[in-house]
Amino acid sequence: MAELTALGLERKAAAVHAQLAAALARHGRLVYSNSLGAEAIVLTDIIATQLPEIDMFSIDTGRLYEETHELLEKLQRRYRRAIRVVYPDAAALERLVARQGVNGFYHSLEARLECCRIRKLEPFKRAIVGYDGWITGLRREQSAARAAAEAVEWDAEHGLYKVSPLLEWTEAEVWQYIRARRLPYNPLHDRQFPSIGCAPCTRAIQPGESRRAGRWWWEQPETRECGLHPRVPPAALPA
Ligand code: SF4
Repeated sequence: MAELTALGLERKAAAVHAQLAAALARHGRLVYSNSLGAEAIVLTDIIATQLPEIDMFSIDTGRLYEETHELLEKLQRRYRRAIRVVYPDAAALERLVARQGVNGFYHSLEARLECCRIRKLEPFKRAIVGYDGWITGLRREQSAARAAAEAVEWDAEHGLYKVSPLLEWTEAEVWQYIRARRLPYNPLHDRQFPSIGCAPCTRAIQPGESRRAGRWWWEQPETRECGLHPRVPPAALPA
């Protein structure tokens, strides 16, 4: 696919800014749930440099790659603006490991979802308290489940809006933005890790595999989400 012109890229970034500014005006306080993936580099840059009203947080599950921590450190230094880091509840984590073992998530889908619940979903729920909407870096082409997403949808599960300003971006456009601005990114992306999560649940993909094939690779494709993004069509927006 041909690259965007420099002007085309600027227009695409300006559209993200406009969408986020409109969401702020319409829905109120927004927070960005920063995954530290390639899309997150684009959104962090736009939010940190142009939309200081939007808060950011990132969840440290305790099982991230060291490369991910190094990237977080670089982003914190570059933007001089704290990305709040949210951790799992220590007591809940101890109980989880006592129940299923330190790598119990490999043993069943239920055990894996329980680990994601304690290490990701519960910290996420704490981090969004008091906000009217949360922002994600989802892109439509990432998976069949994400193809049906809406730019703004009501997240009935969590009781606030979910805003996805990069839905129409291609992977090539994300990388064009990162390279044009010489932004830091996770070096694992250069080692065939297009999608990066916890270290024990992410592997490099092989030629011809889907971009998310390295996430929870031992499971069926339809279960490979952490639970933050539903696998069913979005609920209708409330009036
Ligand atoms: S991705 Fe793996 S290690 Fe991380 S929270 Fe989910 S099951 Fe646990």
